[in-house]
Amino acid sequence: APALEITDLRKTYSNGTEALKGVSLTVQPGDFFALLGPNGAGKSTLIGILSSLVNASGGTAKIFGVSIHEQRSQAMHLIGLVPQEINFNQFEKPFDICVNAAGFYGIPRAEAMRRAEKYLKELRLWDKAQHPARSLSGGMKRRLMIARAMMNEPKLLILDEPTAGVDIEIRRSMWQFVTGINKAGTTVILTTHYLEEAEQLCRNIAIIDHGSIVENTGMKQLLSKL
Ligand code: ADP
Ligand code: ADP
Repeated sequence: APALEITDLRKTYSNGTEALKGVSLTVQPGDFFALLGPNGAGKSTLIGILSSLVNASGGTAKIFGVSIHEQRSQAMHLIGLVPQEINFNQFEKPFDICVNAAGFYGIPRAEAMRRAEKYLKELRLWDKAQHPARSLSGGMKRRLMIARAMMNEPKLLILDEPTAGVDIEIRRSMWQFVTGINKAGTTVILTTHYLEEAEQLCRNIAIIDHGSIVENTGMKQLLSKL
């Protein structure tokens, strides 16, 4: 099954805004996929639906063949989400933030602790693991969001505008890790409004505008057209 298969996905908010107007999209396993679009295009709405934070108004979405509507909790076990906004408790410690996130997925404590150590080390946060999260730099906080998203060892990692307002050094360290886990087999989808970022990282791309997919192609094919 595809890593992600979206068919005719629609979202109309209660104020009447049509954020998604029938989006269809397929992402193959192992891909590093960009969803590119200007502000207001519908990217966050799409990610919100995939992560069960937003209810779709119509259409279907499947993660590795698992319907996010009919088999919601199974689907959530396959996804890791790195949201745009820092949303962990800044008074907690990175180690606890990760272990608690694993607890949410029902991962036994010993295994949760093993994973927290593994991912905090891989993201070069281990020496900060027992410091309050608020003492971390901006880049460290971003990497902590990735470590937390890895705790259920997702088959599909989704990053929502992960480098908005982030400097070049921090971007590099984030992309190094994300590229590594993609090479190890994790499918990665990232949303961005910077083509340059997508261009450097992603093999395939969809462009969304005003709630519709206006382009869906290989990165090389897209660049050769510009
Ligand atoms: P739903 O239709 O999914 O129930 P709502 O329309 O009730 O969603 O909005 C959910 C929340 O998003 C509300 O708290 C609302 O204030 C907020 N919201 C409204 N408009 C916007 C917007 N343009 N961008 C982001 N958030 C918004
Ligand atoms: P993007 O992530 O590409 O910037 P969004 O999905 O946030 O786009 O927004 C798509 C459209 O839906 C925009 O017009 C936005 O104002 C609107 N929107 C987003 N969230 C809400 C909400 N909760 N309630 C009403 N309108 C919303």
